[in-house]
Amino acid sequence: MNAEIISGTETAKKLLEKKLKPRVDKLLEQKIYPKLVVILVGEHAASASYVRQKEKFAEKANIKSEIWRYPDTVNEQKILSEISRINEDKTIHGVIVQLPLPEHISVEKILKAIDPKKDVDGFTPENIGNLFLGKPCLPCCTPRGVITMLKENGENLEGKNVVVIGRSNIVGKPVAIMALNENATVKILHSKSRDLTRKMQHADIIIVAVGKPEFLHGDQIPKNCTIIDVGIHRTDEGKLVGDVHANSAMKKARKISPVPGGVGPMTVYSLIENTVTAAESQ
Ligand code: NAP
Repeated sequence: MNAEIISGTETAKKLLEKKLKPRVDKLLEQKIYPKLVVILVGEHAASASYVRQKEKFAEKANIKSEIWRYPDTVNEQKILSEISRINEDKTIHGVIVQLPLPEHISVEKILKAIDPKKDVDGFTPENIGNLFLGKPCLPCCTPRGVITMLKENGENLEGKNVVVIGRSNIVGKPVAIMALNENATVKILHSKSRDLTRKMQHADIIIVAVGKPEFLHGDQIPKNCTIIDVGIHRTDEGKLVGDVHANSAMKKARKISPVPGGVGPMTVYSLIENTVTAAESQ
């Protein structure tokens, strides 16, 4: 029997109506108009598409969003001064800098310059530190989206064996910490880990963030586990695939998130959720 699909699109839609819109309505009643600014440098096609998705979802949530565009020749100082302007502007509650940036701009410097209270991507050292300490923070969006999607689809993480494949700062590490904060037992695998199949043997939930198309196959995973596929890749034929070989994993897993329509929409949901949280706290 094929695995049940955990739809990120449907989960995000449901949460928007049930949880987010009532919070936005409350802010609007108090004449607080949540606003997000996206800094977009250059003409990266994938970035432009992600930014459009964020803009569309913000509109659905009744949140103002502005895209501030710069050519890829823009210098680091200009972006830093724009961030400082945003930090001072009380009508802007959240800002993100769409990555990747051109090589001459230091991502680290740019992220450090963002006021942590407006850091709705959750990438500043302060927000990451608070996440690590289990304190209130603006959590990074993709990991937060993964955890929300699991919980909203009946996957209580407490006591579960969770395996995370990948240890990047934006997905693998934070999602592992979040699962730990939910009282899961967490194992992190990476490119130097040996014998992945054996290490996944007792997993209840596997979160795959490897960045390699159709990397994980059904024959590697234990029967009846839940698979969350974070990866997204466009094949030469123009099809979107994840880090998981969906056809084979579907036959073995109990639940699986699809690509597209899985983690992607939940990432966007978390960004808008963070913008609302930022507006509430400012
Ligand atoms: P990344 O920075 O490239 O990290 C990939 C991780 O996978 C690294 O930690 C690496 O280990 C590990 N890895 C590589 N080969 C491996 C192997 N053979 N066995 C085990 N581990 C291996 O990627 P990322 O930024 O975390 O993104 C992961 C995927 O998620 C990408 O496809 C990306 O496009 C996608 N993504 C999607 C969203 C969304 O909203 N849907 C958001 C962000 C990212 P080492 O550390 O040892 O090198």
